[in-house]
Amino acid sequence: MAKIVLFGAPGAGKGTLAGKITKFSDIVHVSTGDLFRANLKNKTPIGMKAKEYMDNGELVPDSVVIGMVKKRFKEDDVKENGFLLDGFPRTVEQAKALDEVADLDAVAYIKIDKDVLEKRITGRRSCTECGAIYNIYNEELTPEEEGKCDKCDGDLMQRDDDTKETFEKRYQTYVDQSEPVIEYYREKNPDLIVELDGSRTMAYTEEELKELLPL
Ligand SMILES: [Zn+2]
Repeated sequence: MAKIVLFGAPGAGKGTLAGKITKFSDIVHVSTGDLFRANLKNKTPIGMKAKEYMDNGELVPDSVVIGMVKKRFKEDDVKENGFLLDGFPRTVEQAKALDEVADLDAVAYIKIDKDVLEKRITGRRSCTECGAIYNIYNEELTPEEEGKCDKCDGDLMQRDDDTKETFEKRYQTYVDQSEPVIEYYREKNPDLIVELDGSRTMAYTEEELKELLPL
């Protein structure tokens, strides 16, 4: 049973990597994004609290997020099989809060060049009809006809979140917060950090991942 944090910029491939690992391991993918959506949808007390802040246009405080993560850690699947934590911690404060509830075995640090990431995100197009995903900067994912879906001929569009402006803003937030988090873990225990190449998250084999991470 391992307790692993997946760390990396938005779009670096944390979810992709988790999906790959959970195919051959019982370890549980705990995504704070998914937890948020579930708590809001089921109108749990934590979800309602988070909603209050969001409705007021405020950031959801760390205490609420850690409360949500802690609650998830108490469920049987995580207790038995450990976790791949995705989306948390994002700040040093959150890393400290996490230390109080879990003894980590590894921090998988997915590194990726900014220009690779930018193309991955700003090149993304999705079909308005069937939801198929394309990428105009990736030969393998380019639609045959510009702006049209190969599968259903629907129109392709770019999500508001995927524009260059939003990308720059989010990336800067990540850079400002990420360095201190990695520094925090480096000071605590440098052996915890496992660096992964974000330009090839899809290419890692099961054997490689088992060798790199305590799976
Ligand atoms: Zn389509």
